[in-house]
Amino acid sequence: MKGIIFDIKEFALNDGAGIRTTVFFKGCPLRCIWCHNPEGLSSKRELYVKKKGCLGCKLCNLPCDHEECQGFGRCLHICPKNLVSIAGVEWEAEALATRLLKDEAFFNSCGGGITLSGGEPLLQAEFAYELLSLLEGRVHRCIETSGYADKETFRKVIEKCDFVIMDIKLFDSDEHKKYTGVGNEKILENARFLKGTNKPHMFRVPLIPGITDTDENLRAIAEFVGEDRVELMSYNKLAPAKYESVGRKYTDLIDGEREINANLSLFKNATLRK
Ligand code: SF4
Ligand code: SF4
Repeated sequence: MKGIIFDIKEFALNDGAGIRTTVFFKGCPLRCIWCHNPEGLSSKRELYVKKKGCLGCKLCNLPCDHEECQGFGRCLHICPKNLVSIAGVEWEAEALATRLLKDEAFFNSCGGGITLSGGEPLLQAEFAYELLSLLEGRVHRCIETSGYADKETFRKVIEKCDFVIMDIKLFDSDEHKKYTGVGNEKILENARFLKGTNKPHMFRVPLIPGITDTDENLRAIAEFVGEDRVELMSYNKLAPAKYESVGRKYTDLIDGEREINANLSLFKNATLRK
């Protein structure tokens, strides 16, 4: 079956063990105000125009006859700086698995593998399941997920993974809804399930200044995860830069200059990723 992917990043060092190739699934049911992949939010292919380096020549606004450019209001080929593209490529699961497995020997020699990320891979659960099945027994498979999916979907897909990295962003459901657009009940239910399995996993907490990094939130998450491994992730100050490229506006609710509270002492087994 087909899925839609907005990036394939090789030599990724922070998406699981070893050196990995990370596949970014397009589409996410959440709308975290700090999301640093705005081109991964919509499930549809969309115009992506990098602003940095733009000459302002407006050549890309001229009408063209290329079939693939119609409907986007820009020519995808004329930019002298190659700044205009489409975020989102359709892949057949088999073709994608073949592409990823070209580095099979390398992954297996260095303890790396393939990571499914996004966006939210579970939003394309059938495609993710098929891809993970095709990789089974060949390379180490990891998923990075918000955990926002019904329990059957979550359980079915993580069964096909060798390692699960799951976010817990805000423990209070009203706060979660306020800043991500959805409540966290499904997420906590899936996290509880994950904790109870023997599936190797790690929880991740993004440290968003003044929002997720309060002692109150971190303490509640720490109590919930107990002894499980946790990675606190520093706020990505580069997040706002991409928004203009997909015609979205970044939030003004985050003070990116404010120092984050990375209170590792609240956790039993946490590290900080800067
Ligand atoms: S063609 Fe390229 S450089 Fe010129 S305006 Fe468009 S994006 Fe900018
Ligand atoms: S869950 Fe991840 S990809 Fe989805 S909106 Fe939040 S930060 Fe972005």
